[in-house]
Amino acid sequence: MGRAAVVRGRRHERVLPVGCRARGAPGLGGRRGRARIALRRALRRAAREPLGGRRRPAGGRRARGRVGLARGRRRPNARPPRRRAGRSRPAPDRRRLARGLPVLPRRGRPRRCGAQHCRGRRAGGRVGHVHAGERVSEVIVVGGGIAGMGVAWSLAREGTDVTLVERGTLGRSASWAAAGMLAPAAEIGFDELDLYDLSRQSLAEWPAFARDVEAASGIGVGYDDAGALVVADDRDSARALRRLFQFQESHGVPVTWLSGAEAAEMEPALTSRIPAAIHSPEDHQVDNRAVVRALAAACREAGVTVREETTVETIEPGHPAAVVLDGGERLAAPVVVIAAGAWSGRLAGLDPAPPIRPIKGQALSLRMNADVQFSHFIRAPRAYLVPKSDGRLVVGATSEDRGDDLALTAGGLYRVLEGAVRVAPGVEELDVIETWVGLRPASRDHAPILGRSRQPGIAMAAGAYRHGVLLLPAMARIVSRDVLVMLAGNASEVPDALSPQRFEA
Ligand SMILES: Cc1cc2nc3c(=O)[nH]c(=O)nc-3n(C[C@H](O)[C@H](O)[C@H](O)COP(=O)(O)OP(=O)(O)OC[C@H]3O[C@@H](n4cnc5c(N)ncnc54)[C@H](O)[C@@H]3O)c2cc1C
Repeated sequence: MGRAAVVRGRRHERVLPVGCRARGAPGLGGRRGRARIALRRALRRAAREPLGGRRRPAGGRRARGRVGLARGRRRPNARPPRRRAGRSRPAPDRRRLARGLPVLPRRGRPRRCGAQHCRGRRAGGRVGHVHAGERVSEVIVVGGGIAGMGVAWSLAREGTDVTLVERGTLGRSASWAAAGMLAPAAEIGFDELDLYDLSRQSLAEWPAFARDVEAASGIGVGYDDAGALVVADDRDSARALRRLFQFQESHGVPVTWLSGAEAAEMEPALTSRIPAAIHSPEDHQVDNRAVVRALAAACREAGVTVREETTVETIEPGHPAAVVLDGGERLAAPVVVIAAGAWSGRLAGLDPAPPIRPIKGQALSLRMNADVQFSHFIRAPRAYLVPKSDGRLVVGATSEDRGDDLALTAGGLYRVLEGAVRVAPGVEELDVIETWVGLRPASRDHAPILGRSRQPGIAMAAGAYRHGVLLLPAMARIVSRDVLVMLAGNASEVPDALSPQRFEA
């Protein structure tokens, strides 16, 4: 419940939620009172209106102004709406039908409380109820990293009314700290075959995803399909590399075995003393910081209500579900998506809490010079080197199980730099641009946790661990689809191996 006001009634004092007014209480007369009544009527009309009948005006939600004017009405002196050339934008329901997605029934939308309730009859913060004055969306997304923004954008493109709540600035946590490798072949372990299939599927979706987000935002995301070299740096790691190569070949991964000299010929900045390498042409990369910027712009363009510098304190599962913010404000929606990265398991109200823990990664970027240039990214046993189109070379990263510790340490940076210099000695001469640390959201089994939980109205988009950038298109697709199916009241299609329910039995 939000902040409460004590109102003196005829017989006794009652505590009402913000926006509620006691029966017979003064304050509805006069011009301001009439305006409030008009606004309340508009809210009720909005709550009754079926979703498919709604149309977003050009210019996004901000341009619509107050709620009372949002549903097709214009201020008397407002300019006429801009008409688009060619075909008009289809209503959300028709777009959903065209894509084979379910149309939301009216019962999928929350209703605001009726007049009697507003007069305090049942006020008191009943979970699953929406009070007058509370903001209501169809979906609330908690956490504005790439997982949260990916889901929010995908839903908004389907015409869903989404509120995205981020405690800091959009995309400045793990998603900013990443190196941007899209590397199912180079990165996936022997015991992660399910994850490997999902990763390859997501990689296949990346080119179209990149095109769409670039078109929506006007920001290039640096999708680069030049491939990777996985290199050994001593005899032991060469033996391990040979086992990886055999495993990859047996699973049909298109890879080529190279001698050290062949690898150095492909990438002259590598030392020819490396014993062996694997060329992996199907491992790609993006500029993850550009992806973050593009997703943030695309979310806003698609009409997502973005609330930065706002922390979600508590989750209230229910019909509808709700979140309580740091200032005490309560937001309600039929579905709340948890995408709070490494902090997803800490949110009060989730029971059981999703098993996600932070794994710290320290990394740095260097300025490449004329002698040290790479066209592929390099995966070495103790470090990776990822060249970016703006001249940065990202070198990373440690993997430390140290809770919330965000300290940058000499030892951590030394280890990754030493690992890079072993395979590319020229790295020693490069200028340092930046050092940073991030927390990977690691689920207990290292696979992402996607789709609806057993708690009513709760879905997850979290736990992508070392592969959140790679898995972005697949996570956004799977979770947004499951949320639409949830809103329509249908059964989940998310595989058990990814569902939160695998940890909730
Ligand atoms: C050093 C490093 C290198 C990496 N390299 C790669 C790579 O090359 N390729 C790859 O695929 N992956 C990589 N990863 C992993 C990838 O970065 C993550 O899997 C991915 O960014 C996770 O995204 P997310 O949105 O789940 O989490 P985050 O980006 O951490 O976003 C979570 C957001 O939730 C917000 N939040 C938390 N609690 C609350 C709350 N209570 N209320 C409101 N907001 C809240 C946070 O402020 C944050 O912005 C790397 C990670 C690190 C650390």
